[in-house]
Amino acid sequence: MGYVDEVLEDVKKKNANEPEFLQAVTEVLDSIRPVVDRNEELYRKNALLERLVEPDRIITFRVPWTDDNGKVHIQRGYRVQFNDAIGPYKGGLRFHPSVYVGILKFLGFEQVFKNSLTGLPIGGGKGGSDFDPHGKSDAEVMRFCQSFMSELYKYIGENTDVPAGDIGVGGREVGYLYGQYKRLTGRYDSILTGKGLTFGGSLIRTEATGYGLLYCAEEILKMNGKSLEGKTCVVSGSGNVAIYAIEKAEQLGAKVVTCCDSTGWIYDPDGIDVAVLKDVKEVKRARLTAYKEARPNAEYHEGRGVWTVPCDYAFPCATQNELGLEDAKTLVKNGCQGVFEGANMPTTLEATQYIQKSGLLFTPGKASNAGGVATSALEMSQNAERLSWTAAEVDAKLKDIMVNIAHNMSDAAEKYGFAGNYVVGANIAGFEKVAEAMIAQGVY
Ligand code: NDP
Repeated sequence: MGYVDEVLEDVKKKNANEPEFLQAVTEVLDSIRPVVDRNEELYRKNALLERLVEPDRIITFRVPWTDDNGKVHIQRGYRVQFNDAIGPYKGGLRFHPSVYVGILKFLGFEQVFKNSLTGLPIGGGKGGSDFDPHGKSDAEVMRFCQSFMSELYKYIGENTDVPAGDIGVGGREVGYLYGQYKRLTGRYDSILTGKGLTFGGSLIRTEATGYGLLYCAEEILKMNGKSLEGKTCVVSGSGNVAIYAIEKAEQLGAKVVTCCDSTGWIYDPDGIDVAVLKDVKEVKRARLTAYKEARPNAEYHEGRGVWTVPCDYAFPCATQNELGLEDAKTLVKNGCQGVFEGANMPTTLEATQYIQKSGLLFTPGKASNAGGVATSALEMSQNAERLSWTAAEVDAKLKDIMVNIAHNMSDAAEKYGFAGNYVVGANIAGFEKVAEAMIAQGVY
């Protein structure tokens, strides 16, 4: 049995109850085989792959909070510090009822390669809680965030671990978390990114993941003689990533006709009205039925259905494994020519393989959604300099980073004989730098 298969066997044995983590590790290790084969002796001697798949540490803690009726609830809080070979741990916090250690290990593992791909000196981590912010009052969310930070603050620092937002953690939550950190420590450290603009946040951070996704997609399309101009696109999700992906796609001349949340989806034949969507989701925090009320020409459907709408390009921007094999078959049958992941691992392994075999362009989230973490790192730089860059400066840097990522993953794929396979390219480009740094720093 080869080295990759030995390690995969062992990972399956040790993490049998964590399917998302196994899925992420399988995809990465499978696709870096060409590099591992060339360096097998060195990697084996250093137990490189075994170390790569084992988080540096996992911190788990109890988070008690009191609801508006005075009842106390207990959630679980986590921080997975996965790998700091190339810089301090960096990765978001997710508040969602589905959060457990396996989800955060998958996200932390992906984050290691994503952060490496940005070209910036940041390691990989992820954290969060099984707290569900849906339907909670601002005061409940604040009390939860304060309790969560009362434990987390012991383990983070501007040169050790810098969390940010993710599903269920946006500007409001980051503000409450940051306020509690300051209250506990009396320090104005850059220990969180995604902060408000009045207290150290960066312009364009809110837009960065969605905009970056479109900059990456645009470059990949250009490299393949295609463009977004006049094309019909479908987007899933209606959160931070989806909203700004839709906004940038429309600025680049595409028409986006769908979005969704966890209960239903919208088909808007005239193109999603981003101002209405922002009002529904960012201001009113309402369901998508409110979008339909404001846009009578649009259709609202309960359940899932975004992938059934014929399109040129698809952008999954909601959550992991939201695009399965049957969805992929429908997209291909309806003439879709490319899938660009905005969420983390939204496409199942089988669906990814089907999409690639069918000749569609496909970019993995760890590359195409890296604009968020890259801009978080730019926020850290601005905090360190005590300066704020203009929106145009940050946007230009974001675009540069995304264009570089597109070329780096394309070049890495080509170098190893997999031209056009951006999954292989992204994993190899991300891995090579981390592997070199891990070996150079000795065994730990
Ligand atoms: P948000 O919480 O802002 O939005 C998530 C969206 O996805 C909401 O519309 C939500 O609907 C929907 N959603 C969540 N779970 C499901 C589900 N099971 N089925 C259908 N819809 C669902 O999160 P983000 O936009 O920040 O994150 C979206 C994805 O992008 C995640 O995979 C995240 O890890 C990834 N990502 C985010 C980055 C960022 O900067 N924010 C950076 C890189 C990646 P509802 O409101 O009903 O729950």
